[in-house]
Amino acid sequence: MSSNPEIGSLNRTRAIMKEYGIHAKKGFGQNFLTDLNVLKNIVRAAEITKADNVIEIGPGLGALTEQLAQAAGQVVALEIDTDLLPVLDEVLSPYDNVKVINQDVLKADLPALIQEQFTDPSRPIKVVANLPYYITSPILMRLLESPVEWAAICVMMQKEVAQRLTAQPGTKEYGALTLAIEYRMQARIAFGVSRHAFVPSPNVDSAIVVLTRRTQPLLDKPFDEGRFFGFVKSCFAHRRKSLWNNLKPLAGKDTEKQETVQTVLAELNILPQIRPEKLTLEQFIALANQLHDHKLF
Ligand code: SAM
Repeated sequence: MSSNPEIGSLNRTRAIMKEYGIHAKKGFGQNFLTDLNVLKNIVRAAEITKADNVIEIGPGLGALTEQLAQAAGQVVALEIDTDLLPVLDEVLSPYDNVKVINQDVLKADLPALIQEQFTDPSRPIKVVANLPYYITSPILMRLLESPVEWAAICVMMQKEVAQRLTAQPGTKEYGALTLAIEYRMQARIAFGVSRHAFVPSPNVDSAIVVLTRRTQPLLDKPFDEGRFFGFVKSCFAHRRKSLWNNLKPLAGKDTEKQETVQTVLAELNILPQIRPEKLTLEQFIALANQLHDHKLF
């Protein structure tokens, strides 16, 4: 152990927890990363440079924050747990480009925070985090629905959720969450992480997902995003049933409406007996647009 070990080393993490009497809180999804290779590879996967502003969600004991501070221009970290603030204040004191803010990421006004906290808010903004797993989807949706144009989002999550985000049509992992991500960004799994890289170890393995902005925007965007995603969710209400069975409630008992749905499907070359997970994002968009034109939802 060197005289100044990095925060993410197992020895230093244990020493910090002992010194401050910190016990990981399950309720806040606290699993601290104690593998320096993983930490450095996360920063590499996010392609962080000194030109970047970084928002970190949940700095914990500061292991990832320290690596980000060394690579980025400026880091703003949002931590919900007030017990961790004095720890972070001290362990991150060598870095003058880090600010820790006591905030719940699900309540934070991100555009305002960016304007207030970064010295130069016009620089690329990247989100990097080892996410609290109990709120992975709400955090992702909040980031994606925010008006901020993220240069990249590079986040660790439960492996199974990562597989859902990056799933291909026709697989069992493909669903409404995949489509919500694909609609806005391009997602890929950078690498997997064993549960043994954390203190305490979670019951699941993890993966790093990198989301980047689409190079080409979607052409045929639907009328209203909220209604579109409501429609997508209704198509997946009964995954094991056919698309037609999932669409039937739109027409109810009205045979004329049922025929209209059938005609729309035929015009789009979509077989009614197909399972919803076989449909691509573009097909969902076309279907939603047409059904909406026929006032079916
Ligand atoms: N970044 C640290 C690491 O990699 O070791 C800790 C990651 S731990 C999985 C998740 C962190 O998110 C914890 O520090 C937890 O307190 C924090 N957290 C949980 N819910 C939060 C919320 N709603 N807003 C901000 N931080 C939150």
